[in-house]
Amino acid sequence: MGNRDATGDSQADDKRPGREYRTVADLVDDGVYRLDADGCFIAVTDAFVELTGHTRDDVLGEHVSSLVDGQDGERFDDLRTRLESDANTTFETAIETADGDRRPCTMQVSPLVADGEVDGTVGVVRPIENGARQPDQPPATAVSEPLATVIDEADVGMVVIDDAFDVVWINETAEAYFGVDRSDVIGQDKRTVIEETTRTSLAEPDASAETDDDNTDVEQFECHITPGPDREGRWLEHRSTPLESGPYAGGRIELYYDITDRKETELARVESNQRFESLVDAVEEHAIFMLDTEGHVVSWNEGAERIKGYDEAEIIGEHFSVFYTDEDRADDVPQQNLTQARETGMVEDEGWRVRADGSTFWANVTITAIRTDGELQGYAKVTRDMTDRRERERQLRHERNLIEQILETSPVGIAVVNPDGSTSRANKRMAQLLELPAEDASAYTAGQRAMFDADGAFLPVEERPAFRVFETGEPLYDQEVLLDPDGKRRWLSVNAAPITSEESDPERVVVTATEITELRAVAERRKRELKEREKELATVRLATNLLKTGEQPTEELLQEFVTKLPQSFRYPDRTAACVSVGEHEAATESYEPSEQSIAATATTANDTPVTIDVVRTTSQPETDTEPFLEDEQQLIETLATLVAFHFERQEYIDELQAETRRLEQFAYAASHDLQEPLRMVSSYLQLIERRYGDKLDDDGREFLSFAVEGAERMRSMIEGLLEYSRVEAQGGPFEPVDLDAVLEDVLRDLEVRIIETNAEITTASLPTVEGDASQLRQLFQNLLENALEYSEGEPRVHVSAERRGEKWVVSVCDDGIGIEPEETDRIFEVFQRLHSREKHDGTGIGLALCRRIVERHDGEIWVESEPERGSTFSMTLPAVSEDGA
Ligand code: ADP
Repeated sequence: MGNRDATGDSQADDKRPGREYRTVADLVDDGVYRLDADGCFIAVTDAFVELTGHTRDDVLGEHVSSLVDGQDGERFDDLRTRLESDANTTFETAIETADGDRRPCTMQVSPLVADGEVDGTVGVVRPIENGARQPDQPPATAVSEPLATVIDEADVGMVVIDDAFDVVWINETAEAYFGVDRSDVIGQDKRTVIEETTRTSLAEPDASAETDDDNTDVEQFECHITPGPDREGRWLEHRSTPLESGPYAGGRIELYYDITDRKETELARVESNQRFESLVDAVEEHAIFMLDTEGHVVSWNEGAERIKGYDEAEIIGEHFSVFYTDEDRADDVPQQNLTQARETGMVEDEGWRVRADGSTFWANVTITAIRTDGELQGYAKVTRDMTDRRERERQLRHERNLIEQILETSPVGIAVVNPDGSTSRANKRMAQLLELPAEDASAYTAGQRAMFDADGAFLPVEERPAFRVFETGEPLYDQEVLLDPDGKRRWLSVNAAPITSEESDPERVVVTATEITELRAVAERRKRELKEREKELATVRLATNLLKTGEQPTEELLQEFVTKLPQSFRYPDRTAACVSVGEHEAATESYEPSEQSIAATATTANDTPVTIDVVRTTSQPETDTEPFLEDEQQLIETLATLVAFHFERQEYIDELQAETRRLEQFAYAASHDLQEPLRMVSSYLQLIERRYGDKLDDDGREFLSFAVEGAERMRSMIEGLLEYSRVEAQGGPFEPVDLDAVLEDVLRDLEVRIIETNAEITTASLPTVEGDASQLRQLFQNLLENALEYSEGEPRVHVSAERRGEKWVVSVCDDGIGIEPEETDRIFEVFQRLHSREKHDGTGIGLALCRRIVERHDGEIWVESEPERGSTFSMTLPAVSEDGA
């Protein structure tokens, strides 16, 4: 196309060249103009109009100097000359704009040559502030094609093809873009060029080729140039416009803009969007979806499907307000949320949302406005199902409230103490106990309040319960702390326990406190009372002990009692006492009757008066306003009664003893005195028998023998009785008695009976006991005689002994006839017998005598028996105190 004249037909039709240039030039951003041979504007582009601010009508026909600096205007006149030698030129000037400003710009001018003559100029105006070109940049390589000069300047690849699709021109930029040489492609068929030369360079050659087939529309598409040896890889935007007039009418002008940067950014964005989308799709915990600017759902992820229950197909396109409850919709909440997101960029909300099945869940929702270059694109909405968490939080809150409530309503003061002594928590009760204002309880620091120990000594902070727990790590219980020792004297019982974490040192200590002032007062009173009682009890015990002995002479007893009595009183040193029982009286040394006294009296059954009189020896007015306590009065009354009881009993015992003695004397006297007349009866009966025996008939002799027998029986009864009455009065002194020896003696005496009855008597080893040897001999004799007597066959008898405490239990066991259970008591009475004399001879006094002997030895006797099988008589006898043998 080299020598083709771009303005070739300008003479024929003035408008054609204008249109032609405009078509091309309008695709270029810079202002392009054409001047006629006289330097007047005959065509300008829209960009020129915009740049200068003058309308096209104002400019056309005007001389170039009306718009440019005067000097520069003159330069245009020189141009004609200059251009003849120098094909084109660029210079800086200033354009006068419509509003009078002078706008600096570069102006590039190229001569238009027609038929060897310069026929006007064509130029490009570029404002300097645009900075698109350096003002001093050297002019582009001169070519014969003026338009190409202009076009080459632009960063735009340009290819012009004629109606036969032959390339007629290609600019430098396009050469670089496609990696071709102008000389190789001009004149070639465009399709061939694309196929053969640039086939591989155009990523979408078909799209490019197709446009050529349909040559009427403005085409626009993007294509990718792959990198090659002569070219860089890049993205181009292709625009082509059909040329309707001029030399290439029916051809096209194709422009290629480098859009690599934009395209790469775009691709990167697409790629990251894809990555992001796949990420978002996979998230299940969150519903993540996009809304368009109106609030319609445009995307949907797995989480959204799971949480909201809609599948993608059914929800896309729906308005997002379906997720809201009816009430929220009625209150216009969805729209408000969108509005807020639009205005502030983001909105976060928590509330009930509705699933596809109508169920609701508690949701946390964020809506973020998505903007590109400030323009709202839609919204991203993220929804989380918080139902579980909300429930957990609700429960936690509930628990916390409960604990809080327990803490606050607890009747026990509770505080949590930090290692530095400050309080991290304290309840109302604690505040009350420490007398702090309730709201300040937690501001309390140990040491603020003085505390004292049980002895009233000041408690330094480090010795208080909480600090001791910090030190030892061990809990502490029931520590008594005194507050206000000089005032209200309030007592607290304090417990403290460490709160530890994994066996480390205590982080905090829980301290609880309860007020025990009342309790302590009560306890102390009780203690005092107890002490008093103990004192009284001791006195009473003493009195009972003293009085029990009974052996002591009355005077001595009373003296001992009265000497110890003051010790039971509050001030023993200043207390004196006097006790009298009947005619007996005993008093402490310092006793003198006084005004300050208390007295108690009692009488025995025999009307013996008992008096206890207690006096204060020295008077001390401050303590003696009430010289004696009521308890003390009660004590001596008790003691008086006790003393009266004692003497009453003593009197009774004395009487009994006297009575017994009288009876014994009577029995003794009676039996002793009866012996004499009985002996006389017996003597005379013997005399009758001897002298007149043979004169009596049988009856007479029989009667006489009855009388003799009766007298004999009477004698043994009287003897028994006599013996019985003498047990107490005529008994020997007690001494250790070897029962083995005693038994040996008895058995010797009974030898004849034993042989007669063919009895077998066995004995275990018997102890030595404390007693009256002859009475014990009597005892064994009676028991063994009975054992031999009350037996049907050959008697088997066993004697044994068993230690029981201070006593020996000695038993005589036979296999005889036995005794009916109801008779076991009666047989120990005097003259009580169970059998006739014909069957078993006896007086009925043996066991009575045994009982009396045992009783004299401070023991008991009893029988265990079974009729037909035998009897065991047992008795207790005192062991010998020293060796117990
Ligand atoms: P007596 O002189 O009749 O033996 P005791 O006082 O010794 O008087 O005994 C009183 C009664 O107890 C006896 O009459 C006899 O009936 C009964 N008795 C005493 N010892 C035994 C015995 N070992 N076995 C059965 N009965 C006995």
